[in-house]
Amino acid sequence: MKECCDMRVTVIGLGSMGSALAAALLDKGVETTVWNRSAGKAEALAARGARVAATPREAVEAADLVIACVLDYDALHGVLDPVAGSLEGRQLVNLTSGSPEQARQMDGWARSHGAGYLDGAIMTTPPGVGSQEMMILYSGSAEVFEARRAILAALGDPVHLGADPGTASLYDAALLGLMWATMTGWLHGTAVVGADKVEATVFTPVAIRWLGAVAGFLTRYAAQVDEGRYPGDDATVDVQIVTIDHLIHAAQKRGVDNALPELLKDTMLRARAAGHGSDSFGSIIEVLRSPA
Ligand code: NAP
Repeated sequence: MKECCDMRVTVIGLGSMGSALAAALLDKGVETTVWNRSAGKAEALAARGARVAATPREAVEAADLVIACVLDYDALHGVLDPVAGSLEGRQLVNLTSGSPEQARQMDGWARSHGAGYLDGAIMTTPPGVGSQEMMILYSGSAEVFEARRAILAALGDPVHLGADPGTASLYDAALLGLMWATMTGWLHGTAVVGADKVEATVFTPVAIRWLGAVAGFLTRYAAQVDEGRYPGDDATVDVQIVTIDHLIHAAQKRGVDNALPELLKDTMLRARAAGHGSDSFGSIIEVLRSPA
């Protein structure tokens, strides 16, 4: 029984992510056609009820809505350029990762072929696809987003960031940077406490609770960043320069790599040199915006 939408959808690209997207649509009873360069990857989905297209053209022509998720934009153009004429009157949702500039170029390309276009960024790994806890960011045509919101909700919580098709990729890049910095900081801390025989599974619940406090700091400093004023009435850059030395010392004593805290300290020192010693940590953005 269809739980979601009475429409046909095509998924192009059945790697780890594309397969998860197609499976989530099938779970909701959506009539789904799939195509992948290596045909074998369609077999598991066919067993669950997907229709397998023999060619990209057949795949595009099988549906009103085409969701693409391949490795990169070169692969995307390689698949779609030869069948561009078939996109006319259809809608293309591109979940392939890329830069904002590539997304904007793709939007122009799709519209020049008469297709509506939405660009997207999947903020989870394949096991999270389909969960409403997980965001999928979209930008581009609000008309396509509103018309297809119910289908897109089958893939994760759909969040529309505005009409500029590059915005989802821009957020994606920024959020992945946040993820890598956070995970590397956590692993560094895990290595430091681990040297004193604290297991990662013991340290991590405390680290996660700390992230809740850190989220509060971000909210406070976001307002300061927007105002361009960084009153150091909670903790100053000067104080944090002294404090980070405790981490550097503890890591050094335990033989743990210190490249990350040294980089962070260097950034704080540059902020102090630029006159932000008595400002809040939010003032670091001034250094990041104007690298030496
Ligand atoms: P993957 O498992 O390596 O799958 C790559 C897909 O791209 C396969 O379907 C592959 O086809 C296809 N492909 C590669 N080169 C191609 C070409 N020249 N022509 C046609 N098809 C080509 O990668 P994935 O994890 O599914 O990632 C797909 C996209 O989702 C990427 O842009 C990735 O950044 C994004 N993404 C992934 C995750 C994640 O956690 N995995 C999260 C967010 C976003 P074959 O099967 O024939 O090789």
